[in-house]
Amino acid sequence: MEFRDLKQQYTKYQREINAAIQRVLDRGVFIGGEEVEELEKNLAAYVGVKHCISCANGTEAMTLVLMAWNIGPGDAVFVPDFTFFSTAEVVAFLGATPIFVDVKWETFNMDPYRLKEAIEKVIQEKKLTPKAVIPVDLFGLPAEHEAIRIIAKEYALKVLEDGAQGFGGRIGEKKAGSFGDAATTSFFPAKPLGCYGDGGAIFTKDDKLSQQLHSLKVHGKGDDKYDNVRIGVNSRLDTLQAAILQVKLNAFADHELEAVKKVGEWYAALLKDMVEIPVIPVDYGSSYAQYTIKLKSRQQRDHLQQFLKGAGIPAMIYYQKPLHQQTAFSVLNEGDGGFEMSNRLSQVVLSLPIHPYLLKTEVEFIADKISEYLKQEAKHE
Ligand SMILES: *Cc1c(COP(=O)(O)O)cnc(C)c1O
Repeated sequence: MEFRDLKQQYTKYQREINAAIQRVLDRGVFIGGEEVEELEKNLAAYVGVKHCISCANGTEAMTLVLMAWNIGPGDAVFVPDFTFFSTAEVVAFLGATPIFVDVKWETFNMDPYRLKEAIEKVIQEKKLTPKAVIPVDLFGLPAEHEAIRIIAKEYALKVLEDGAQGFGGRIGEKKAGSFGDAATTSFFPAKPLGCYGDGGAIFTKDDKLSQQLHSLKVHGKGDDKYDNVRIGVNSRLDTLQAAILQVKLNAFADHELEAVKKVGEWYAALLKDMVEIPVIPVDYGSSYAQYTIKLKSRQQRDHLQQFLKGAGIPAMIYYQKPLHQQTAFSVLNEGDGGFEMSNRLSQVVLSLPIHPYLLKTEVEFIADKISEYLKQEAKHE
């Protein structure tokens, strides 16, 4: 059993994917071209936002937006403490200061109440200027975007939705990628919508921002190809990846998102009386980038992971270390105060295999093994 099985998807779509790759090879255009334009149009339509700007990966997608917003030294950018490193890395990379915000136990996502506290603290300290907030749609579940939007408006902060894990999630009828002043996603192979290498995209309804991003991602190009009007980067999505992604986007919209939700339902029904299962708030939809359960203690979590491994079931720990504990951020570390939830979560979370091609019998097998472990543990107590 694999944690996220990409081979089954390839087997199912082999003909279409191979044909898409062959078309690009036959034409001999490997940067830009109609595949990239077509994909951007279709991604924007799927998400329900005017502009989609593809780029090299999910990390650079965020960097590009922060560059367009002139985020730099002296600026504070608020990020959840419990997320992948990249969310805060891009802030520090541009010389700004990431301010870590604790998350909610139930949803793993940024706690709007803690966000407000963190903003107030920065204002009182008078060292940094609050500029932006990056809510993350962790494990496929959108952040509390409405509450965060209201707070951001109060303090005139820009909102960047980090939807690297969120593609396919929704709140009501609004899809992940449509929240905030801009949103980003990643096409890293293991994300809900992945390519066969690195890739990323930015979504926005802001015409001016879209224009700036098109320039920034190609060395700050101006209208005249030979005149560069600003300092940018080189961050493009390969034509081959765009061609592959088009086949995968069709599969995602056609049945994969529904299939992965079904897997989530099977897990929930089987596990709900054994462990803490993911909470999907009313009116929210998750694309289950991860299916993350919570155990009673670090010891129970670690032992269960080992037990599952012995049964051929890969289970992963996202995340072992909250951001405020990362060595690279040790200069910002003000001790462990204020991060109760992310500290506790990092000790007890365990992500189980999930993907659209996981069978009900496999989910039953995993649930049986978890049950077996818990019974065995209870006997020894
Ligand atoms: C994967 C991920 C990223 C970065 O995406 P890449 O394409 O790997 O650069 C950013 N934020 C979160 C929450 C992620 O999970």
